[in-house]
Amino acid sequence: FIIRPLMSFVKCIKEEKELQAAGAYEFKYLAATYNDIYEANEENERMLRHRAERDPLTGVLNRGAFEHMRTVLKDVFEPIALIIIDVDKFKLVNDGYGHEMGDQVLKWVAKLLEESFRATDYPARIGGDEFAVIMANVYEDQRFIIEAKIANINETLQNPSKGMPKVSLSVGGAFSKDGFTDDLYHKADLALYDVKEHGRCGCRFYD
Ligand code: GH3
Ligand code: MG
Repeated sequence: FIIRPLMSFVKCIKEEKELQAAGAYEFKYLAATYNDIYEANEENERMLRHRAERDPLTGVLNRGAFEHMRTVLKDVFEPIALIIIDVDKFKLVNDGYGHEMGDQVLKWVAKLLEESFRATDYPARIGGDEFAVIMANVYEDQRFIIEAKIANINETLQNPSKGMPKVSLSVGGAFSKDGFTDDLYHKADLALYDVKEHGRCGCRFYD
């Protein structure tokens, strides 16, 4: 009556599971108390992880989480696509409409990225008005799908609802056949620079 419930408790604790309430009142009490603390701990950990990984303004992954993904995907033998996104003339939004409206625009951009890309892609905010999306298992021949998504987002941003400023995105992308190679970011950045140089509001890939 004593050893068995104790052994079962120890097994659950080692397996990081909740305790099975059984046996005498004291054991049930112990199990219920442990389970409450266990649940509160789990919730705390979830919250901390979320706070550590997410950008507080937009809710997408933050720069730290992006860098982490970059490291994790460095040694995988999977095709990777990376796009870097910069809001065009964003300073004019802040200057003309105020910083708070600027924040609303950044939230809107993040939301559109999350809605447009797959649940398995990783949109992140990597700077003030700069975002990125890492896509695993995407080959170069899918560039047209990405271009179409960006064109759709730009179409939406150029036809805002009342009160919101018109904005657009410049996007540079690059592909790798073997994981997140060292030059991938640089290539996408060069492509982005090219879009900025050639009139903004568009998407190009590094060739
Ligand atoms: P470009 O087309 O060349 O990108 O022009 P730009 O005006 O967008 O230039 P840039 O990308 O360098 O400007 C980014 C601006 O974003 C500068 C900074 O004041 C603003 N910014 C950075 N972080 C935030 C933020 O959290 N909220 C708001 N509202 N503005 C921000
Ligand atoms: Mg900008």
